[in-house]
Amino acid sequence: MKCDVLVVGAGPAGCSAAAACGAAGLKTIVVERKPEIGVPITCSGAIGSYLLPYLPFKTPKNLLKHSIEGLEFIVDEVSYVRRGGPWSSYAIDRSAFDKWLSQRAVDSGADLIMSAEFIDATLDKSWSGGRAQIRKKDEIIEVDFKVMIGADGARSRVLETLGERVSDARMGQAVVYEYEGVTLESPELDQLYFGDFAPGGYAHIFPLSDNRANIGVGTIASDADLRQCFQDFVALPRVKAQLKDGRPVLEKSGTVSFEPLSLRRQYGSVLLAGEAASQNIKPLVEGFLPAIICGDVAGKTAARHLLNGESLSRYQRNLDRRLGLILRESDRLISLLEDISDLSGRKSYLLLSGLCGNLISPREVSKLALGDEEDITSRLESWNKSRLKQFLSNASERLAIIYLHAQAAVNNKIYKL
Ligand SMILES: Cc1cc2nc3c(=O)[nH]c(=O)nc-3n(C[C@H](O)[C@H](O)[C@H](O)COP(=O)(O)OP(=O)(O)OC[C@H]3O[C@@H](n4cnc5c(N)ncnc54)[C@H](O)[C@@H]3O)c2cc1C
Repeated sequence: MKCDVLVVGAGPAGCSAAAACGAAGLKTIVVERKPEIGVPITCSGAIGSYLLPYLPFKTPKNLLKHSIEGLEFIVDEVSYVRRGGPWSSYAIDRSAFDKWLSQRAVDSGADLIMSAEFIDATLDKSWSGGRAQIRKKDEIIEVDFKVMIGADGARSRVLETLGERVSDARMGQAVVYEYEGVTLESPELDQLYFGDFAPGGYAHIFPLSDNRANIGVGTIASDADLRQCFQDFVALPRVKAQLKDGRPVLEKSGTVSFEPLSLRRQYGSVLLAGEAASQNIKPLVEGFLPAIICGDVAGKTAARHLLNGESLSRYQRNLDRRLGLILRESDRLISLLEDISDLSGRKSYLLLSGLCGNLISPREVSKLALGDEEDITSRLESWNKSRLKQFLSNASERLAIIYLHAQAAVNNKIYKL
């Protein structure tokens, strides 16, 4: 088989990349090893509203299931709530959204081959294309491509083929269950908990409706016993009270790439998109919308290369233009988050909660880490009590979003990205 663009993986990044290539008139093949799109789900289904304007399409309303006003950050008895602006979000039906994305790719003209696993590839010496081996049932299919987009998730086989080591030590793990029949304190708020039950991470209650929620624990500590962490979390009195009439109906656990598996996102004629390129936004490791956005940029970069001769090395620059450096800033947080998780106990949880809620800036973390736990607590509590501080942080965040959206809109007009 021959194609212009081979996309590996029909998750959000791959389908978005394929839709962009198909719409540009390129012969595009997407291979997906699973037999069905969107099954099983490995996601808590929370997406930040502030990222919706970056999408290459207008999101159908029926895919946005439940509106969330903000987030509550909780460390034992210390808690604060951030609402509106960058803190508002939606709960999605991830399975339905993935199916919609794959249909969009097919409608654009891409060929989607299910139950087809990418095994290996040989790249041309001139990096102008290559040949991939795809396993479908007992058969190996060879696919010649001019550009390949690796969108095969956190444990990327494409990345391994390029000689990179894909190790679990650089991954974040999450155990998530969907519960029905829960009695939520506030169905309009996501709840984020920090404590021993989530070393180097956080636990969450993400409402999907008034009486349904995803309950999960995620960590970057590779040696943590996550099943035990989950049990410890659901035993917390505040959590237990909300789950008392509920029952788990679906497991959604999985892996996210936390530390980038590679600093490169382009290897000759191969581009990486989504989790395979660690394109999720830290500190909350939000990856669904970034995968769609970056997949679209990868597809459009491939199309410009094949149709106009533009170099594929412009991929990173194109990403920067679309996402206004959000991802680059997010990558800078990685070492900071690792440093915080190396600290022990409550101080690390308070710091992490303050950083996640943007009440502690990255620059302040090391100074606060040297001080007393009380300093951090009083910092969070004084914000809680001060209307002025709340107004100022809300206003500056909203202005930053307006600026980033305007920047992306201007870049989109100029560069058609
Ligand atoms: C437990 C959990 C909870 C999460 N919660 C959230 C959340 O609430 N909000 C949020 O924004 N993000 C969340 N994420 C992250 C989000 O799910 C990912 O960032 C997103 O799915 C990335 O999309 P992707 O297309 O890059 O990768 P994936 O969705 O992983 O898709 C990759 C696809 O490639 C296929 N594939 C893999 N290997 C091969 C191969 N060799 N050949 C062919 N096909 C292959 C896979 O089957 C898969 O379909 C969560 C992740 C996890 C694990």
